[in-house]
Amino acid sequence: MSNNNPTNTGRRRFLAGSAAMAGAATTGIGAGSLLASPPAKAVSTDARIVIAGAGAAGISIATRLSRQLDGARITVIDSRETHLYQPGLTLVATGNWTPSKVEDPNTRFMPDGVEWLHDDVVEFNPDNNRVETAGGESVPYDYLVITTGLQLNFDAIEGMDTSLIGREGVGCVYANPDHARRTWEAADLFLDEGRVALFTRPPGPIKCAGAPLKVTMLLEDALQDRGTRSKAELHYLPPGEGLFSQPDINTFLKDYFPSKRDITIDYNHPLVAIDPGRREATFGTPEGPRTLGYDFIHVVPPMSAPDMIRYGDLGWQEGSFEGWLEVDQYSMQHRRYPNVFGAGDVVGTPIGKTAASVKAQAPVVADNVVAAIQEQALPAAWNGYTSCPLITEKGQAMLVEFDFNLDMTPSFAFLDPMKAHWAPWFLKDQMLHAAYNAMLRGRV
Ligand SMILES: Cc1cc2nc3c(=O)[nH]c(=O)nc-3n(C[C@H](O)[C@H](O)[C@H](O)COP(=O)(O)OP(=O)(O)OC[C@H]3O[C@@H](n4cnc5c(N)ncnc54)[C@H](O)[C@@H]3O)c2cc1C
Repeated sequence: MSNNNPTNTGRRRFLAGSAAMAGAATTGIGAGSLLASPPAKAVSTDARIVIAGAGAAGISIATRLSRQLDGARITVIDSRETHLYQPGLTLVATGNWTPSKVEDPNTRFMPDGVEWLHDDVVEFNPDNNRVETAGGESVPYDYLVITTGLQLNFDAIEGMDTSLIGREGVGCVYANPDHARRTWEAADLFLDEGRVALFTRPPGPIKCAGAPLKVTMLLEDALQDRGTRSKAELHYLPPGEGLFSQPDINTFLKDYFPSKRDITIDYNHPLVAIDPGRREATFGTPEGPRTLGYDFIHVVPPMSAPDMIRYGDLGWQEGSFEGWLEVDQYSMQHRRYPNVFGAGDVVGTPIGKTAASVKAQAPVVADNVVAAIQEQALPAAWNGYTSCPLITEKGQAMLVEFDFNLDMTPSFAFLDPMKAHWAPWFLKDQMLHAAYNAMLRGRV
């Protein structure tokens, strides 16, 4: 591994640019959105806007719309009181952060002048411009923004349920801070003993596709620190032939895992069943089911849009994004319902599903909703910008940024995206959370 110490001119340059960095940290310095810009003055309207979901995308868009519009009735619907900073879960699950670092009351971020309905949407009714809630309300809208995030389908793995996380050697970084904390408890025991660890990855799109890779590399590094690496056997089991969507990083990882980290890659191994009592996992390989024993397993569940979209009118009805919200990948407008927009993990686009993508999408959606209200052509477009601080070990990461063309779009000339460096680790560990909060407040 490269081991660039933070004691040189690179560090000074890095820190000197830290203000810009904070803005860039979840993003790529605005590289992800074309033409999106705040209007000179708020547009007067009495439009009713409903935003379904108050996570990264929902809050960021609500904040922007509340500033860009004057007189609009903006209703945000979400029953969750706590805002989760999900990019921090990887650090919780590997013992680097405490769970409390990733939780905040959502009241901290809800913009003034927005009505927060503490409820859940159970049905979208786009033909009648209404959403139905679990609490029995039928909420009418003129414009709808869908930002519900995605659904974790643990039940697609036979024998798996979330109560297992933290027991019988089972971990899962996804879902919530408590699961991440329990994952660390299970991983911690494994690190003491070594033996066999399996790191899974489901078929289909997942949020932060780097997270399963980061967990693998951080725990491999932790074994080295504990002095138990020689007693451990690590397997990374992707569902197909690839490890990462960006081709240069994919090629790098396919060599780096086996040759530099002694991690075996078992291709074409989607996890289909787990038997926690026996500590066995079964994979559906092209040659038929294959069962492997484990001492620690990191389970990543298949993911989908929430069922009401997956099986409803608003999802793609066919094709490679089937079941995900059917938006135009540039304007983020629904392709069949022009008064519906979407952002974040729920959308069916070629890449995305990161907070970095949300940072680029939020101004696009806000500008385009404002234009739609004014019956103008939609001015803004997302270019697919996404990013991943791919942690290779504690203190080192590669800052991988790319767009719809899968071309690298590095934000910092002095950082080679193909090399691990201390600066992206510093970014992830120390700066991204502040940048994420700034995104929620519409400041970056
Ligand atoms: C382990 C992990 C590591 C990650 N690491 C990174 C990283 O390093 N960099 C990065 O950029 N991104 C990372 N991400 C991804 C990032 O957190 C997500 O892409 C981002 O949070 C997506 O925002 P969202 O608003 O679409 O969804 P969320 O932030 O998940 O918010 C969705 C909201 O919708 C609400 N909701 C759900 N259903 C309903 C309903 N029926 N009615 C009303 N409200 C509903 C939920 O309560 C929630 O508040 C990571 C994610 C995880 C899990």
